[in-house]
Amino acid sequence: MAVVRRICLLCIVLLGCAGISIQAQDSESQLTVTIHVVQRGEYLTAIADLYDTTADVIARLNNLLDPSSLEVGQRLLVPISGVDAGPSSGLHIVRPGESLAAIASAYGTTPEAIMQLNNLPDTTIYIGLVLNVGLLAPTPAPAAGQSVAPEVTSIVTHTVVPGETLFRIAQTYGVELATIVSANSLENPQVIYPNQTLIIPGVTPPQIVDGLPPPIASFDILPIVLTEGQTARFRVVSNQPIALTGTMLSQTLNFSTADNLLFIGLMGVPVGTQPGIYPADFSIMDSAGNNYTMSANVRVAAGGYVLAEDILVTGDSNILLDPGVEQAEENTLRAFMSQFNPERYFEGQFGLPAAATITSGFGNSRSYNAGSTIRVHLGTDFGGAPGTPVFAPAAGRVVLADMLNIRGLATVIDHGWGVYSGYWHQTEQYVRPGDLVQTGQVIGTIGSSGRVSGPHLHWEMWVNGTPIDPMEWTIISFSS
Ligand SMILES: [Zn+2]
Repeated sequence: MAVVRRICLLCIVLLGCAGISIQAQDSESQLTVTIHVVQRGEYLTAIADLYDTTADVIARLNNLLDPSSLEVGQRLLVPISGVDAGPSSGLHIVRPGESLAAIASAYGTTPEAIMQLNNLPDTTIYIGLVLNVGLLAPTPAPAAGQSVAPEVTSIVTHTVVPGETLFRIAQTYGVELATIVSANSLENPQVIYPNQTLIIPGVTPPQIVDGLPPPIASFDILPIVLTEGQTARFRVVSNQPIALTGTMLSQTLNFSTADNLLFIGLMGVPVGTQPGIYPADFSIMDSAGNNYTMSANVRVAAGGYVLAEDILVTGDSNILLDPGVEQAEENTLRAFMSQFNPERYFEGQFGLPAAATITSGFGNSRSYNAGSTIRVHLGTDFGGAPGTPVFAPAAGRVVLADMLNIRGLATVIDHGWGVYSGYWHQTEQYVRPGDLVQTGQVIGTIGSSGRVSGPHLHWEMWVNGTPIDPMEWTIISFSS
């Protein structure tokens, strides 16, 4: 009978430049791992079967306290069998701007060898893809006049569990806290959240830019794997003034730039986007009129939203559930909330719009009046007594303050850069269109106007014309 060896994350050995190697505590044996993103309907034993391992091994490898509760989009370390798993073998996670040729060159191998190792049909790779690279010590890239060798990183990811601190995570892995902060572009190390995936690097991430066209110095995407219903930030730095345009998921990206050197574009990944790999395409024109293109393959993970609740609507349901009324109101809002204002009013993370309990989250589907109408819930609800103050969670300019049929007494704030927030069902409204509001300013009170089952504030946010989860904005800063 085979005994499953106890493997704990403390035993991860970061072998300098040699990729991931996980060593069993009580033996010399080595495991090579990859990352599996949990899809809808998957359970642990089925995932274990996929990788020819056991549920117990995966549970131990990931410190799963309750293996029966996996979340869609959760990232699991799983051992790979059937590959060369010696101490010098390693994995590489594809980062923005990397091409297969550049990765191969950094590890002293060829694109063909990597394709063969990973069963890739062609040279197409995507950001976040975990490649088995061989491996071998990385070799310095022969850059003319440069003696800097690209450092190749050992990457382990860690999924945050409730109650963990970044300090404890850094201690667990034996790395500097600052290393984790910089590798994950964390704006505020005090704020991490359950199920957040953190990259735990052994050394500095690679600076491989072979895949970027000449005017582009760097390119990154936050987060590295996108999620339906969440925000994405594209940041492009050029080494000369350029004009930049881009598209992803049929959206035209709107970039903000002060100097035509640093460009930031925000987009919302629509709820309902199927998990998969999608291209982000960019066009660049330099001041001499030369045109370049740049393309990145970006993974979108499932949001894990569910069909939650049935709402009994009180009031005149002939008006309130009338599709014509609903569509007209949505068109009005879309016209306001899809504009792009290059001026940014917000700074850092958003606050909360009310000191009240969250009663319903973003993205879950709801049925109204016993299933006669089904809608995806595109905001976060705060239950509070009528008269509870509603705060502006960030600075901005009021663009709509009106009484609507479904949303009741509604306020929309333009925060700039294509970011809008909406406040529905209020009882009182203290602002008018054109007003500039500051973070924490009282803009109204919670109520039950419009299509509701009781008093609450519905808080909604749109980014680049797409409704997204507003709570992400209270955790992550997208302003730089
Ligand atoms: Zn709501």
